[in-house]
Amino acid sequence: MGKPTGFLEIERIENPYRDAEARLHDFEDLHAAQPVEARRAQAARCMNCGVPFCQSDFGCPLHNLIPEWNDLLYRGRECEALERLMMTAPFPEFTGRVCPALCEKACNLEDDATTNRDNELYLIETGFEKGWVQPRIPPVRTGRRVAVVGSGPSGLAAADLLNRLGHEVTVIERADRPGGLLMYGIPNMKLPKAVVERRVRLMEAEGVRFMLDTEADPAILKKYDAVLLCGGAKKPRALNVEDDGSNDVRFAVDYLTAATRAVLSGGESSISAKDRAVVVVGGGDTGNDCVGTALRQGCKSVVQLEMMPAPPVNRLTNNPWPEWPRTLRTDYGQLEAIHRQGGDPRVYETTVKRILPGQIETVKLKGFSPIPGTEQVIPCDLMLIAAGFVGCETATAERFGVALSQRGTMMPADGTHRLRDNLFSAGDMRTGQSLVVRALADGRAAAREVNQYLEGQV
Ligand SMILES: Cc1cc2nc3c(=O)[nH]c(=O)nc-3n(C[C@H](O)[C@H](O)[C@H](O)COP(=O)(O)OP(=O)(O)OC[C@H]3O[C@@H](n4cnc5c(N)ncnc54)[C@H](O)[C@@H]3O)c2cc1C
Repeated sequence: MGKPTGFLEIERIENPYRDAEARLHDFEDLHAAQPVEARRAQAARCMNCGVPFCQSDFGCPLHNLIPEWNDLLYRGRECEALERLMMTAPFPEFTGRVCPALCEKACNLEDDATTNRDNELYLIETGFEKGWVQPRIPPVRTGRRVAVVGSGPSGLAAADLLNRLGHEVTVIERADRPGGLLMYGIPNMKLPKAVVERRVRLMEAEGVRFMLDTEADPAILKKYDAVLLCGGAKKPRALNVEDDGSNDVRFAVDYLTAATRAVLSGGESSISAKDRAVVVVGGGDTGNDCVGTALRQGCKSVVQLEMMPAPPVNRLTNNPWPEWPRTLRTDYGQLEAIHRQGGDPRVYETTVKRILPGQIETVKLKGFSPIPGTEQVIPCDLMLIAAGFVGCETATAERFGVALSQRGTMMPADGTHRLRDNLFSAGDMRTGQSLVVRALADGRAAAREVNQYLEGQV
């Protein structure tokens, strides 16, 4: 159960960020790892509190056995800890880097939570380093063929489980590289792309086939015993503002995709922020990734507009533990902007009213209504829209003959993953834009339903 007095004696220490100035000159991993002694000490802080909210629905959609592997890590039994972790977590190297760690917010130690995410990352990276992570090839093949459309976290998690169950899995992906938003969305400094490629190579060695540069066609419904649509929900919310078309206005994911392509090719991005005044519209996580990316590209300045008021510093009474705290968080990009510009790039209760050549006009908001007389013109050579997502692409839905839900998703009316006959959906495409860990859990849940369906077909 960890060290009974560990949480009293040992201070919580996360993997530290690399120095802000140094990391602004590259797109390498944001964090520096800590040595094994530090990790074991951090694992010793897990209280095995008897009611581990960390692994409940509040804490972990995958229901990772957190107190168990923290205990094994504390005792220096890393290989067993990793086995325990991989019982429920398909790709700890992704969640160990990008998960917001709902489990830590649900920890009984609250603000002093055990560093589960860093511990998870340490276990999987040690596993790769020491050769404990090897292809797990299913001993028996069922002869049933499954197509998974989309290679984001939900598609990868479903493909992984279906392959493990002995089915022949083909992942069909329209992009030139696999990974979905893990590849083209989340920036390299948060999730190095070599980490995504390493996992895909492992899955290939395990027998999963990847067809890249391929648009899924409904003909696959006849070619495969089951088809699982995991196409994501990247349709961006547009802004309804006056725009004469003279400025450079882009959606955040297009910008971030171009930035990652440039990092991978070693060239200049096709949408670069270099020497430009950048305005990011949207104060959320995607907006923060745009801020961090623009600073690395050498922007002249960066401002992040947010319609909502600044969140409270502490939890409100209607948002108690172990819920995710809706409190003010200052993420890496914002910290870097503070370092570079001397102030928080976020401007609250403000939106764009008009887009002009080299400038934008902003206006203050009360609720969602503009306050007359508060207009202000600020420099802007590149405006990035990070105002959320409104569901999945209608083209794929139309081609496969699926009616979208009110939220623009492929959520079956009965709440399962089965749309009709041999057609299923999972991940953001089913739930709407969410988190990597939720997409992984949904992909695995869909895989179980597909498996049940295939068993019933025998
Ligand atoms: C910029 C950004 C940063 C984020 N950062 C984080 C983070 O730090 N932590 C976190 O937990 N979550 C983060 N998220 C959310 C997270 O990335 C998503 O919830 C998750 O990737 C959804 O996984 P998915 O598999 O459902 O879909 P996606 O990752 O969107 O993958 C869908 C894939 O399907 C393919 N596809 C679609 N239609 C077709 C078709 N017809 N034929 C063939 N292929 C098709 C697409 O090309 C894509 O590769 C972020 C999201 C964004 C936009």
